[in-house]
Amino acid sequence: MAAPELIELDHLPAGLLECPASALHQHLRGPTLITLRGQREQPLVVSVLQHGNEITGWEAVQRLLKSHYQHDELPRTLVILVGNPLAAKHRLRRLDEQPDFNRCWPGGNGVDPEYAGLFRRIHDRLLQLRPLACIDVHNNTGLNPHYAAVNRIRSDYLRLASLFSSKVVYFTMPGGTLSHSMSEFCPSLTLECGQAGETHGTDHSLAFLEACLHLEEIPLTPVDADAVHLFHMVATVTVRDDVLFGFGRVPAQLAFRENLDQFNFCELPAGTSIGDLRNGTASPLVAVDTEGLEVTDSYFRFDQGEVRTSRDVMPSMLTQDRRVIQQDCLCYLMERIHFEDNEEVTGIDPLPEGMERSDSPSSG
Ligand SMILES: [Zn+2]
Repeated sequence: MAAPELIELDHLPAGLLECPASALHQHLRGPTLITLRGQREQPLVVSVLQHGNEITGWEAVQRLLKSHYQHDELPRTLVILVGNPLAAKHRLRRLDEQPDFNRCWPGGNGVDPEYAGLFRRIHDRLLQLRPLACIDVHNNTGLNPHYAAVNRIRSDYLRLASLFSSKVVYFTMPGGTLSHSMSEFCPSLTLECGQAGETHGTDHSLAFLEACLHLEEIPLTPVDADAVHLFHMVATVTVRDDVLFGFGRVPAQLAFRENLDQFNFCELPAGTSIGDLRNGTASPLVAVDTEGLEVTDSYFRFDQGEVRTSRDVMPSMLTQDRRVIQQDCLCYLMERIHFEDNEEVTGIDPLPEGMERSDSPSSG
């Protein structure tokens, strides 16, 4: 499938705010940037529906605009990126013939060149707008608390994240995400707002977006150690393609324990069993670290008919959705980090040649 063209609008098409995510395709044929002018010129970028079935971001934007700004001017310019209305139509993360949009941004590997070009153009357009911050709203399929993810450890990035949740995740893989590609240039977050369709996820992201629109700036003064519990991704775990797996008491080579997703954001001691093994698949899971190296043996043991953790870890995004496991991964593994010792002391990287940054905070 050829990559669509980027559409840019300076207004909301009539009727758009009445559309559920699944009907947006009637107005928007593909990825669309909608700029709505506000009192402060420097925009807040909010990305929704990069994954078509993750509707919380759109619902939050919809409610924000309908309830607060139908008649009043926005306190700050808002740039809405509607990522994948075609997949949203079918209530899917992506269509089979599409790549995963949130792996296609600059820095992603092995992306179809047409899509890589499309997302490079959107990225460059966003850079030109010199945003205050970039917020990419997602849902996940397991039981996860709401949390924000950052790709750099800096006071201003952590402060912005802490306005959403004290749980903050630092990640640099998978590559090609919007927040990672933008985090070179401005505070940039991926928000994980629980499962799609939950009202409190929409309430929470709506309140956060509203708060962001009212921020004058994002200060670089150090963040309290209590305000942020920071974890970092150490590995991505997938199930090998040829392994038959299931949940609970099922006749499968790998039977994960029931309610596996209750382990999300729990610090699990080494030796915790996550499932039973039958028919001797030697190594049904693959863990890959942030450098892309296989590190399965560092995190799992497969013996005595069980899959156990082999060191203390905290999983996130554990899901029981087969499609997600097959298309994406089983979970991420995390370890706690003490950001006080890891904070970057340098400023944000300079903008590319020919672009100026007028109103970003100075480094501290
Ligand atoms: Zn997502």
